[in-house]
Amino acid sequence: MAIYERIADAPRRRYRVRSPVSLAPIGEFECATAEDVRAAVERARKAQASWAELTVAQRTAYAWRLLDQFVKRQDEIVDAVIQETGKARSEAIGMEVFACCDAIAYYAKRAPRFLAPEKRRIHGLLGFAKRLRLVYKPLGVVGLITPWNGPVVLTVNPLVQALLAGNAVVHKPSEVTPFSALLVKRLSDDAGFPPDLYQVVQGDGETGAALIEAGVDKVSFTGSVATGRKVAEACGRRLIPATLELGGKDAMIVCADADLERAAQGALLGSCMNTGHYCCGTERIYVDEKIYDPFVEKVVAAAQQLRQSDTGETDVGAVFWDRQMEIIEGHMADAVAKGAKVLVGGRRNPTLPGLYYEPTVVVDVSHDMELMRKETFGPIVAIQKVRDEEEALRLANDSEYGLNGNVWTTDPEKGQRLAERMETGGVCVNDMAITYGVPEAPFGGVKASGVGQVNGAQGIRGYCHAHPILADRKGKGPIQGGYPYNRKSQQGMQRFIRLLWGTPLGRWLA
Ligand code: NAD
Repeated sequence: MAIYERIADAPRRRYRVRSPVSLAPIGEFECATAEDVRAAVERARKAQASWAELTVAQRTAYAWRLLDQFVKRQDEIVDAVIQETGKARSEAIGMEVFACCDAIAYYAKRAPRFLAPEKRRIHGLLGFAKRLRLVYKPLGVVGLITPWNGPVVLTVNPLVQALLAGNAVVHKPSEVTPFSALLVKRLSDDAGFPPDLYQVVQGDGETGAALIEAGVDKVSFTGSVATGRKVAEACGRRLIPATLELGGKDAMIVCADADLERAAQGALLGSCMNTGHYCCGTERIYVDEKIYDPFVEKVVAAAQQLRQSDTGETDVGAVFWDRQMEIIEGHMADAVAKGAKVLVGGRRNPTLPGLYYEPTVVVDVSHDMELMRKETFGPIVAIQKVRDEEEALRLANDSEYGLNGNVWTTDPEKGQRLAERMETGGVCVNDMAITYGVPEAPFGGVKASGVGQVNGAQGIRGYCHAHPILADRKGKGPIQGGYPYNRKSQQGMQRFIRLLWGTPLGRWLA
């Protein structure tokens, strides 16, 4: 049964949404038309003009009040997210409340510093004549397009940055999780943000495409590689900037000297957390043959202990969307047909009425299987035996994706060396899946996993135009190097070039 299905076409597309926990309907929504979206962007632009006049410190007061809402209304958020996604309660608290609180507080506390006008020293002799100041100016209206796997956190993290930077935001959430977005909207309204500064336009891919065409000044997109390409093309046509946070196929390298207990826990958590619906989820595990058997034994023993139920008090929750279930089942069927061996799970949970796939451990996998090449996004621990670390690294890098990865070893220097050689946006050593939650770490994929980096000072400044104001220190008298050009000034310039870059003292000064 489809988690969301179209129930009307005209005059507007209308969808019914079901909970993956019970498959019972939980609500309906109507898609905003291109005209609705344009009107929302116009209203946002008006609201943005007065918002931009506030100082960053004044804007932070709103963010602190949003934080109060999150702290006070935790249960409401957790229940709404569980109903819509079926994720485990611990994950709803950790990912959708804790991580949001951390992001809001992080930026509210630091935005005034990150966005303060900056004096920059100018190099060489030019610095004696000119001074440079950078002002971080908001871009205007940001189009935020989000996926379904972290419906609150993947909204709130970019939202709070864009707003604190002085922008308005028009948000097109995933059609799979439309109600979590409305909850964020209610929380922000209750925090007192000015009307129309943050608006939600419900809809499907067509609505997302309409948002890009509706006059926004930047697009912050999180989603699949296929949609990311379309978004990049549309933004390219419109000549507006975009950050694209796309899919992944993260590899885990387990060295012979790894702490096996910890690595086995990491394998399980990295692969099954959020039902495996995590962009930085561990999707491929390469284990040195010297410790392969004990490692697999530990993973299997721990996987057999995982609980799966539809009460929320579960370790591994529901698959959020029937389309993802089809992908998981398809990848597993392909792997088994090509010789993979299932040690735990490997099927849809027959005891639960909702959309549940059993936590699964599968071995004897190889790169001719979809399971090791395409994003599976399910609770699958896929383990491949390798000769040594070099083979592990070669296989880890043999992927069209490059989001994150992780390395497990008790030798810290080796961990750093291997991490540096991974062709990914970031790497964890003896840990996994946490990079997005550490704003000091620029986050973003390489290869097909994305364009641009988000989070931290660099991320919030990405919602601004860094406006350089270059002033002459004196501001009077003749302009050096100006008209009239003549032989004498040309010779003078050439002498100057020889003096400045042709002598050690000159080079030091330059
Ligand atoms: P998706 O690409 O199908 O949809 C993402 C959003 O884009 C949705 O809101 C959708 O309605 C909208 N959309 C669809 N077509 C569009 C178009 N032509 N123009 C504009 N918008 C359009 O992705 P999904 O299935 O919702 O999300 C899962 C994917 O997101 C996975 O690949 C996952 O790895 C990735 N993801 C990446 C990160 C990251 O930070 N790198 C984080 C979370 C999820």
